Amino acid sequence: MKTQSVTRLENNLRKLPRELLMIIDTFNVNHRKQMKDVFDEMLYYASLTICGNDMCEQEISIWDAIETKILGHTYHFCDNNYCEGYGEWSIRYDYRKYMRRYAQQGQ
Ligand SMILES: [Zn+2]
Repeated sequence: MKTQSVTRLENNLRKLPRELLMIIDTFNVNHRKQMKDVFDEMLYYASLTICGNDMCEQEISIWDAIETKILGHTYHFCDNNYCEGYGEWSIRYDYRKYMRRYAQQGQ
């Protein structure tokens, strides 16, 4: 029977990126229980991102952030109305500005 901490560890491992899991697989399986603190720290850093609002850019948790697709890219914003609204407007504004410059260079 598995202990609750081992089950939690396995659940946390599934959330890690594949590249990290491949590195973890190179270590002895019997040491994994002892690596719990290291895995928790890795999960913490793997789940952080920067707010997509260029006027905010706070370090936020991916799990608590608002995820939005804008122009085919995925962005994360703070969990408030301001960052998502202004951030999306700003990204679209920068894209329009870039496209205008690109069009002018072609003439
Ligand atoms: Zn923000």
